[in-house]
Amino acid sequence: MSTYARLPLTFSRGEGVYLFNTEGRRYLDGIAGIGVNGLGHAHPAVTAAIREQAGRLVHTSNLYRIAEQEALAASLTAVAGMESCFFGNSGAEANEAAIKLARLYGHQRGVEKPTVVVLEGAFHGRTLATLSATGNRKIQAGFEPLVSGFVRAPVDDIAAVEKIAAQNPDVVAVLAEPIQGEGGVRPLAPAYLQALRELCDRKQWLLMLDEVQTGNGRTGSYFHYQQLGFTPDVVTTAKGLGNGVPIGACLARGEAARVFAAGHHGSTYGGNPLVCSAASAVVDTILGEDLPARALARGEQIRDTLSNLLAGDERLVEIRGHGLMIGIELRADCGELVARALERGLLINVTAGNTLRLLPPLVISEAEAAELAEGVAALIQSLH
Ligand SMILES: *Cc1c(COP(=O)(O)O)cnc(C)c1O
Repeated sequence: MSTYARLPLTFSRGEGVYLFNTEGRRYLDGIAGIGVNGLGHAHPAVTAAIREQAGRLVHTSNLYRIAEQEALAASLTAVAGMESCFFGNSGAEANEAAIKLARLYGHQRGVEKPTVVVLEGAFHGRTLATLSATGNRKIQAGFEPLVSGFVRAPVDDIAAVEKIAAQNPDVVAVLAEPIQGEGGVRPLAPAYLQALRELCDRKQWLLMLDEVQTGNGRTGSYFHYQQLGFTPDVVTTAKGLGNGVPIGACLARGEAARVFAAGHHGSTYGGNPLVCSAASAVVDTILGEDLPARALARGEQIRDTLSNLLAGDERLVEIRGHGLMIGIELRADCGELVARALERGLLINVTAGNTLRLLPPLVISEAEAAELAEGVAALIQSLH
């Protein structure tokens, strides 16, 4: 079906931060499959894990215990400071699990119409519940009726959430991305996130962070909240977790960790041996090679280079982000830059109309990061 406006380009092979098209031309991948290929393409540890597991056992179902799933859950909950974990196959499914968890938490506390606070500009996925939670009319239009049980607040406005708290006794949770990705790489103010944590504690709401894009080392720590000095009750992740195998996870701690019992939620494929072996190789590599620190350093390098090369440039509004999640907001819509970047052998992305987004592999070297930053600066300077 015609759900994608695809570029006229097909890749046949990848290696590290480079992709090669069917004609053998090389491209520097500044978007990594939309933040998925954190370890780059054809990473030997992931390839070996997939090969070994595929030759042994791909799938059994959640009717049985799955050793590979238990091992991944153990390392993820340990790194996240969480207690329990549910596996689905995508970011949207991870968020669906969180939304169902919040509703059940509400019902268990006698709330009849449990409601989740969500933010303007948010992106949580394309399923019916997650598009209803998303704060972008373009994604919702045509798919009404939306799923009820969400109330929307402007970002970085704690008074607005306090007001919702005073007026709506049915609120049971807040769901937010610590850095809005599709919304234009917009970090929420740390003080606001801290205030949300305190409000959730006071009201016994669940603080649920969507780290589908920010997680798995991208912003300079395994999860972004680890740089904020507090822990959410629920965190969801996907994208960089599998380096390309479809996997999503919803992790919880405290009371939230014990909300679901047998039969409350499920997935046929979720957490199968193949994807869990691949994801364990990803997590072990991220931690073993300290890729969050690398993301931090390379991100700083790219932002510094861009700031220097574009200093005083009329076209630039702002450079945002943390680590290797970088947004470059321009004064005008810049969708045309994606095709022009291809001519230069660069893969970039534009989000929210006027924000050039970079999500390169975390394994990017200093020289490759320089190539990316200089290429992007030259592209922006080529705009009229
Ligand atoms: C990509 C993304 C999703 C949706 O993930 P899918 O795997 O496409 O379902 C949800 N939340 C955030 C923050 C994302 O960036």
